[in-house]
Amino acid sequence: MAKASTTAWHVRGVVLPDDEVRDLWLVGDRVTHEPVPGAQTLADRGFILPGLVDAHCHIGMRPGGDPIEAVDEARELAGVERGAGVLAIRDAGSPFPYPELDHDEDVPRLARAGRHVAPVRRYLRHIGIEVEASEVGRTIKEQAAAGNGWVKLVGDWIDRSVGDLAPAWDLDVMAAAVADAHAAGARVAVHTFGEESVAALVRAGVDSVEHGTGLSDEDVDEMARRGTALVPTMINVATFGDIADRAEARFPTYARHMRRLRDRHRSVVAAADEAGVPIYVGTDAGGTLAHGLAVEEMIRLHREAGMSTLDVLAAGSYGARAWLGFPGLVEGGLADLVVYERDPRADLRVLRAPTVIVLRGVPRTG
Ligand SMILES: [Zn+2]
Repeated sequence: MAKASTTAWHVRGVVLPDDEVRDLWLVGDRVTHEPVPGAQTLADRGFILPGLVDAHCHIGMRPGGDPIEAVDEARELAGVERGAGVLAIRDAGSPFPYPELDHDEDVPRLARAGRHVAPVRRYLRHIGIEVEASEVGRTIKEQAAAGNGWVKLVGDWIDRSVGDLAPAWDLDVMAAAVADAHAAGARVAVHTFGEESVAALVRAGVDSVEHGTGLSDEDVDEMARRGTALVPTMINVATFGDIADRAEARFPTYARHMRRLRDRHRSVVAAADEAGVPIYVGTDAGGTLAHGLAVEEMIRLHREAGMSTLDVLAAGSYGARAWLGFPGLVEGGLADLVVYERDPRADLRVLRAPTVIVLRGVPRTG
C-alpha cells in the first residue's frame, strides 16, 4: 500500500464548481495554490472535485447487514469506497468499533457514529444496542463518546404487535435523547421510514434525517427553517419493495405502508430540494447494498428527484465535506482530490470513471 508521501504533487484542471482552470499543489496532507518547485504533475487537464462523499454508509457491516469481525474488514470496505472516488464517509452506525481507523492513511476521512441506539428486539439483529426507554439517554451519551462526532438513533421500525411501523420509543423519550446527544457534543442522525417519529424528531432538533420517506410538507418546511439535513438514500429506498414482499404474508399493513413510502419518496426529496433543505448523498451500503455506489445515488437524485447536476455535486462532494468538517481544495485544505476527464455537470455518469484519485496527499489506483 502507498505510504505517507514526501513527494509534492501538481494537478491542473477545472476545480468545480468554478469554471476556471487552476493549478493545485499537494504537499503532505495539505493543498496550496503556491507553486512548489519540483512537484510531479499528476494531471494537466480535466475536472477536479475534492473527492465524493458517502454520508450514510456502514463500513462496520458487510453488504447484507452482518457485522464485520475484524478491523481489517472495515479497512477493506473503506477501500472499495475509495476506489469509487469516495474520500469522505459518514458511518451511520457500526456494530464493530474501529476508532483506530480515524486517521488511517488508506481510509477516507471518517465521521463516525457509535453503535445504533435501537428499541429492544425491534431492529436488525446484532447491529444496534437495544434498550428500553429508561436507558436511551444513558446509552446515547455512551455512544456519543464511542463515535467521533455523531450518534445514530433508530426513530422507528416495524412493531410486530401492531403490524406496522411505529416509533421506537415514546416521542418525548426520543426528544430527550436528542438533547442528551447535543449536550455530549454529538450531532444526531435519525433513521426514520414512517411519518410519526420524524415529525417529532425534526422539531426536537435532530441534525440529519436518514431516508425520510415519511416526511410531510410541513416537516420539510420545518427542516428548511432549521437547516436540518436530509440524507435520502434513494438507492436504498428502492429496495423497499423487496422488504414489503418478504413481509406481505405476516404483516400486510406494513407491506402496503412500505410500498406507499417508497412510491412517494421521489416527491419528498424533490420538495425538500425545492424548499432549500440541505440534501446529502448516502447509499446505506452495508445495510443491504454493496459499497462504492455513491455515484449511482447521485444519478438518482438528479434523474428521480430532479436535483440539478450542480446541486448533486455539492450534495455528493464539496457541500457534504463542508457539512462533515473536512475542508476541500482551498489554501491549506486537505489533500484529497479526484479528477474526471469530462465535466460531470453535463453528465454525472462521468463520475463512474475517475482518472486520478488522491487521498491524504497520496495518489491511489482506482
Ligand atoms: Zn444505515
